[in-house]
Amino acid sequence: MAQRSIRQVVTPSAPQTRAPGMTNRVLITPGNWTDYDPFLVLVEDWMREPGGFPDHPHRGIETVTLVLDGELHHADNRGNSGVLGADDVQWMTAGKGIIHAELPNEDKTSHTLQLWLNLPAAAKMVESAYQDLLAGNALRVEEHGATIRLLSGAIEGVQAPAQTQTPVQYLDLRLDPGGRVDVPVPASHNGFVLVIEGEVRVGSDATAASPGQVLWLDYPRAPHGDGSLGSLRVTAAAVPARLLVVTGEPLGERVVAYGPFVMNSEEEIRQAYVDFHSGLFGGPTPAAQDLSRARN
Ligand code: MN
Repeated sequence: MAQRSIRQVVTPSAPQTRAPGMTNRVLITPGNWTDYDPFLVLVEDWMREPGGFPDHPHRGIETVTLVLDGELHHADNRGNSGVLGADDVQWMTAGKGIIHAELPNEDKTSHTLQLWLNLPAAAKMVESAYQDLLAGNALRVEEHGATIRLLSGAIEGVQAPAQTQTPVQYLDLRLDPGGRVDVPVPASHNGFVLVIEGEVRVGSDATAASPGQVLWLDYPRAPHGDGSLGSLRVTAAAVPARLLVVTGEPLGERVVAYGPFVMNSEEEIRQAYVDFHSGLFGGPTPAAQDLSRARN
């Protein structure tokens, strides 16, 4: 099984407060569409009232939100709403258009990681949907010294719960002090490791990494759809470690992104704005208005 190596280590800048109650840092910077394909953006947010993301639209992407600490209240204009707690994940497929709100709890900081995953051209206009992958229902693969929580993809014959529009393997990995694991990674996948806690060494060159750093795997040589597996070695130092290992098949398509819309051409972006302003995404989110009314 070919061992994957690390081609790039990205160290994020310090978190910055952008508005009252809104602090964040960008872990995957938008614009590197080819290098990071199919991943678009990863942002770590610390939200506290009056911060949060009130009603806003999306089209053409999936947003995968992992709550690290606190609670995240969400509601969309399809009538869905709920509260996500620590370790819960929401996998939202914006598809052809949705309007939703993401807000912190009243008196607690909501600490989250949100990944924007590109949709292939053929799936940009699918019906919007979301899946809550709750911590209590997590599928775990236990290895010696490591626990892998499987959010999407399949490893060791275990199929993760998330239904995805494009092949993506999203793993939440915890290592005991000194623990070591060889994480199976499809040979055709591009992807990254985000260190959340602890000090680790990753890949065939044992690249060292600390919390907040994003490590990009060597670009896949195996062709699209190749079913073979490689592996990525991860070793923890003398303290427990937590990291995400997220990989997916590159789409190899043109990316045109503007605000909350990510499409394949400028014309499709213009159309997204026309559709949004003419009400084709539907109306505002009733539950979001209830949420903000309840606080005023
Ligand atoms: Mn959103």
